[in-house]
Amino acid sequence: MQSDILALGADNRAALRRLTEALDLPRLQPGWVWLAGAGPGDPGLASLHTLAAIAEADVILTDALLNPKLLELRRPDAKVVDAGKRGGRPSPRQEAISRQLVHYARRGLRVLRLKGGDPLVFGRGGEEALALVRAGIPFRIVPGVTAGIGGLAYAGIPATHRDTNQALTFITGSGANGRAPELDWQAIAKGSPTIVLYMARKHAGVIAAKLMAAGRAGSEPAAIVSNASLESQTTRVTTLDRLGELAAEADAPAIIVIGENVRLAQGLDWLGAALFGKKLDPDPLGRDGLNEAV
Ligand code: SAH
Repeated sequence: MQSDILALGADNRAALRRLTEALDLPRLQPGWVWLAGAGPGDPGLASLHTLAAIAEADVILTDALLNPKLLELRRPDAKVVDAGKRGGRPSPRQEAISRQLVHYARRGLRVLRLKGGDPLVFGRGGEEALALVRAGIPFRIVPGVTAGIGGLAYAGIPATHRDTNQALTFITGSGANGRAPELDWQAIAKGSPTIVLYMARKHAGVIAAKLMAAGRAGSEPAAIVSNASLESQTTRVTTLDRLGELAAEADAPAIIVIGENVRLAQGLDWLGAALFGKKLDPDPLGRDGLNEAV
């Protein structure tokens, strides 16, 4: 049984190798570090660069929010190091993670630092890459599908839509010392039609209150998408004045979006349509009605 699994793995690794060769892609080399994004959860959202690096790596340093299925592509002798940082729970210090990357690369290993979503979006990938620069270690950054775009797409919420928002703001809900971030909420309320919050279950209520105090309507649509792109995905559509209460109850990880673009989920929840036969509204913004009225 075990040998079947390994044989299957070897087959998949060979297939990935063939694909990278056919497309003339670079391979993870000894002494190098690749900082790669794995996407928000659905393994199909990991890029070919990321999959091939998993199959090639001698050592893989993983993140808290990774789909463990992806690791089945690793070599049987590859070392997996849990280097995930988890809000509120004990987790390896950032410097310790960077030190390990340098340590393994200096030993001539093929090192993969694998992160959920995109490594440079609220992922501290930049800090790890700078540590590699200081140590003179060659590296490559492989972008990933970030939860604030790809995760929303799985809930049928476009990150931008011409009729609702021509701009988009990403905010971390967890600032210094785990408090709500200190930002110019007046400017954000005024200038950011759509706001996407990462790591914000805890402080969503505080953030919503700041936005309302700065002029955003309590009736504005908002959505909380938990476990986006996974089978366990759930979407709660609500309004800004109820966001805090619902966010506190939502499963982690959750991405939160505030703005009129949330209304498009009525028309674009393709996953709900496919799985549950949800009927999609071809006119979720009510534009036909508006046009007739004009
Ligand atoms: N680098 C990651 C973000 C890391 S911060 C990226 O680009 O997506 C961790 C936060 O990302 C979580 O608190 C949550 O807000 C969001 N997140 C990551 N995966 C998610 C998922 N599958 N569903 C919903 N939110 C997710």
